[in-house]
Amino acid sequence: MKILDGKLLSKQIIEEIAQEVQEMKASGQRAPHLAAVLVGEDPASQVYVRNKVRSCEKVGFDSTLIRKDSNITEEELLKIVHELNENEAIDGFIVQLPLPKHIDEEKVTLAIDPHKDVDGFHPVNFGRMAQGLPAYLPATPFGILQMLERYDIEVTGKECVVLGRSNIVGTPISILLSRKARPGNATVALCHSRTKDLKSHTLRADIIVVALGIPEFLTADMVKEGVVIIDVGINRVDDPNAKRGYRLTGDVKYDEVAEKASFITPVPGGVGPMTVTSLIKNTLRAAKKEVYG
Ligand code: NAD
Repeated sequence: MKILDGKLLSKQIIEEIAQEVQEMKASGQRAPHLAAVLVGEDPASQVYVRNKVRSCEKVGFDSTLIRKDSNITEEELLKIVHELNENEAIDGFIVQLPLPKHIDEEKVTLAIDPHKDVDGFHPVNFGRMAQGLPAYLPATPFGILQMLERYDIEVTGKECVVLGRSNIVGTPISILLSRKARPGNATVALCHSRTKDLKSHTLRADIIVVALGIPEFLTADMVKEGVVIIDVGINRVDDPNAKRGYRLTGDVKYDEVAEKASFITPVPGGVGPMTVTSLIKNTLRAAKKEVYG
């Protein structure tokens, strides 16, 4: 069994990007610039945004953090989005989700200029991805692809099962794994809460991507020997022995599944760090005008 070390891999990619940014600056170009909009006090969102800004600093990007109270109106938030769309000094930006209930997330996502949508959530980018056109790929699926590529895991012709059909992970990774590209060319089953006999699918799978948000859902009896496991889940479970009173666990019962797997991502330290790195990579692509020219 080999651990897919997202922490190590993302460190390598961050170093590569930092090198490229140095070269950009040396040749007289300005540094790529990412802006992040954070609304409210959600603790997980604060951690995610902090990590994103920190990663910008590590690679030498400029970054702008716009923090707003949770009582901001939808109109005010849309105004910020429009300003960021127009601001030529900003290459890409994200509005951290979830947003407070009184704000329509879809409306905000749609207001982001697809050219600056480095989260890849806008339907224009999603549609371009689905058609195999240049697009900003959503960060978590993009991170998974890079992981498969860098660890030289063969995907072509494999049976892949994706558990969970969210717009940000399950659905896009199922499209990306089945597209005519490398990594890709897999036969993909997208399973969800209405799937009958889920185990019959997982038992056949060569590669399983789990994105459910259910702690330790995938157990050893559900997988075959040699399976590749990508665990996207990040769940807080109570643990009185842990310093903070909780620990993080994935959607996979790690210890027992690891014994049967050929490759497996840990949680934390697997897909999570790759997600942040992919956002940075998308911002670099935006600065270089690689997607839309
Ligand atoms: P979500 O919470 O939006 O949706 C969950 C999906 O699971 C749904 O499609 C649902 O149909 C499916 N599902 C629920 N119960 C099921 C069952 N019993 N059997 C089969 N399918 C079932 O999903 P999400 O936003 O992709 O998040 C999933 C997990 O991934 C969460 O733990 C989240 O925190 C984590 N996440 C991690 C990263 C990262 O960077 N590592 C990024 C995004 C999400």
